[in-house]
Amino acid sequence: MQQQTTARAAASARATGRERWFGGALGGTVGLNQSLLAIVIVLGLAIELALGQLVTDGVFAAGVACALVATLAAVAIPWSRVPTWVSAFLPLFDIVAIALLRQSSPASGFGLLWIFPAMWAAWAFGLVGAIASSALIALIYWAFLASTVLSGDGTLAASTLLLPLTVAAAAVVTALMAARGRRQNRLLAEQSHELQEALGRAETQERLVTEVLDAVDFGVERIALDGSATLTNPAQRRQHAAEQASARRFARDGATEFPEGEDPVTRARRGELIERELVWYGAPGEERRAVEVTSRRLGADGDAELVIVSQDVTEQELALRAREDLVASVSHELRTPLTSIIGYIDLASDVPALPDPARRSLDVANRNAERLLDLISDILADGSSNRTGVQIRVAPEPVDVAELVAAAAEAATPRAAEVGMTIDQQGIHPAPTEADPRRLRQVLDNLLSNAVKYGRHGGRIELSCGIDRGTVRIAVRDDGPGIPAHELGSVFDRFFRSSLVRGGTMHGNGLGLSISRDIVRAHGGEISVESTEGRGTLFVVRLPLVQRLTR
Ligand code: ADP
Repeated sequence: MQQQTTARAAASARATGRERWFGGALGGTVGLNQSLLAIVIVLGLAIELALGQLVTDGVFAAGVACALVATLAAVAIPWSRVPTWVSAFLPLFDIVAIALLRQSSPASGFGLLWIFPAMWAAWAFGLVGAIASSALIALIYWAFLASTVLSGDGTLAASTLLLPLTVAAAAVVTALMAARGRRQNRLLAEQSHELQEALGRAETQERLVTEVLDAVDFGVERIALDGSATLTNPAQRRQHAAEQASARRFARDGATEFPEGEDPVTRARRGELIERELVWYGAPGEERRAVEVTSRRLGADGDAELVIVSQDVTEQELALRAREDLVASVSHELRTPLTSIIGYIDLASDVPALPDPARRSLDVANRNAERLLDLISDILADGSSNRTGVQIRVAPEPVDVAELVAAAAEAATPRAAEVGMTIDQQGIHPAPTEADPRRLRQVLDNLLSNAVKYGRHGGRIELSCGIDRGTVRIAVRDDGPGIPAHELGSVFDRFFRSSLVRGGTMHGNGLGLSISRDIVRAHGGEISVESTEGRGTLFVVRLPLVQRLTR
């Protein structure tokens, strides 16, 4: 594509050069050249007349007529519109005219004027023109000379050779110079063409960027090194109006007010790098707008210009809050009856004559009711804490993680079997450490239930644990549809649900992984995810290996 463009540019540049040579410029050059020759001839004739040497015979008249015809043709013919070869007749006429004038008065020196047509032919037709005109001039000259020598009127002299040689040399030099000039012209034309194309491309690019910036609904602002805005798109101008309308700015929780000049937008304009920080414009109770701000440096240079991207996220934030409120109130409402259920189970368990099977059933009911209460407490705690995580309390004790993993696998097996999934437990190796067994089980149950829920029907879940590089490593891998790469960074965010499951039949609230991460972090560990869309997902939990208690 690029090569084609260059070739096209070169071809059109060549065409432009030729046209300029034989078209527009040719007319002017022909006229100038011919006029010069005519003036010199007239001057020569005038000198001859003054000296009384003018011979006005028939040969002289023919010579003057030839020169006159050539001069009139040069002026009258629109050379740019006639074929190039037609212009070759002009030097031909001139050569003949000069030959006749010289013949009528050999001592006049008119022969020197042959340099004019020879140079002109060389200029217009290159080396071919130079050689052809020089050869013709030499032939005519020598023919006339031979006739005078033979008739005894003249003798051979150095000029016999010098004149044709001088004419030929002048013609060849002119041809070479003209060729060089032509090459330079062509080069210049090519360069100017390429420059034009580059300019065109740059303009198209700029137009495109401007159109895109005008169309997008997030604000883009470029800040120069001196802090002034050098580019602002329409969305940014609208947001700026909202900024101006409300003087008070609040943090993500909507209640903490930023001190004067400390909100993310002002900090970004001061040159600070900001990563998705949220600012509420307007006080609680007033009409307010939420804007998420990110600032980045343009280019790799440490103190280069900044670009600030800000997006109005008011609708999303309000929806998120409404959902949080709902979850919190539902959880709260569930807690009361659940506490009552647990109380009554306790009472029932205290009945002495209770048959063993009934006592076992009550135990199971009690355990599950306790877990449900824990979950609800988590949700409530989550709702009341800030968005970056919850402070979950853990009560670590010596445990073998392998046992917890195996128990979680066993509990998940019936649900997995329902959808034709198998849980491979071959990778479970002893991993004694210190952890809160109830909390860790919560993490494992969540990872396993997700693998069953979002994995492939009839697929396989690989469960493993063991000591790895000084930590306890637990891994849950499934071969399901996975999570899109661009969403992986949000997997542990509260209420995250991947675009593959959103709107589907799979129930969930997007809290499980967020709570799991808080639990793992409360243990001093970390949880990570890897996923390839269509190939599966791998969750890895790493917990510190506490050897003091496990020895
Ligand atoms: P929930 O399951 O209640 O939606 P989670 O926090 O446990 O909440 O999971 C959040 C989201 O992460 C899920 O909705 C799902 O989109 C995605 N997810 C979690 N585990 C997997 C998995 N193993 N495979 C594919 N997607 C998963």
